[in-house]
Amino acid sequence: MRFDIITIFPKIFDSYFNESLIKRALLKKIIQIKIWNLRIFAKDKRKTVDDKPFGGGPGMVLKLEPIYKAINFIKNKNKNKKQRIILFSPQGKQLNLKVLKKLLKYEQLILICGRYEGVDERVAKYLVDEKISIGPYILSGGELAAMVFIESLSRLIPGFLGKSESLEYSRGSYPVYTRPAVFLDKKNKNKKWIVPKVLLSGNHKEIEKWRKKYLKKYE
Ligand code: SAH
Repeated sequence: MRFDIITIFPKIFDSYFNESLIKRALLKKIIQIKIWNLRIFAKDKRKTVDDKPFGGGPGMVLKLEPIYKAINFIKNKNKNKKQRIILFSPQGKQLNLKVLKKLLKYEQLILICGRYEGVDERVAKYLVDEKISIGPYILSGGELAAMVFIESLSRLIPGFLGKSESLEYSRGSYPVYTRPAVFLDKKNKNKKWIVPKVLLSGNHKEIEKWRKKYLKKYE
């Protein structure tokens, strides 16, 4: 899976994509990420990517032309790939496991990060295949949404999680504990904070039963 991110703040991604599982997946070529600075597609000398909204009101709006150019450029470079263009927008469809699974069939996802007051609506109307929101709240830009999106989608790609793959979507969705088995709360008369007995029992059947009670369903 290849992700192409269009953003006016490309540096935001540097540290995040250089750590942990995403870094490993990039090195193993399980995923590819290319970050595009929208400014390189601006035609004027000052590299303008935003302008005032028609009709007035606060804030600036990301312009249509640079995004049009960027999308065409990226699309043409990978014509043979099965592509889909996504705009992050608070008005989009809310991201969940079903939305993610549907996107697994594509080979290249072109992700547009908005900023300021948003993106000229003609991008959504004429250029984009779908609009995605990561939740019912407003972010200052689409960059965090892109990171959430890439991470949650990548976890579904075979090889991304390595050994723990088979535990996908059950892993982390039940309570977990690690040593010590008993913690003494010194600030509260050495009250004992304990681990459920079953987890210390070594009885794998019982442990599985206990965990199943807590499993959260995502579909
Ligand atoms: N004026 C807009 C807010 C724009 S927020 C409105 O109220 O509808 C600026 C950018 O942040 C958006 O263009 C979008 O790309 C991103 N963004 C904000 N909230 C988001 C969310 N919940 N999910 C995905 N992207 C979001």
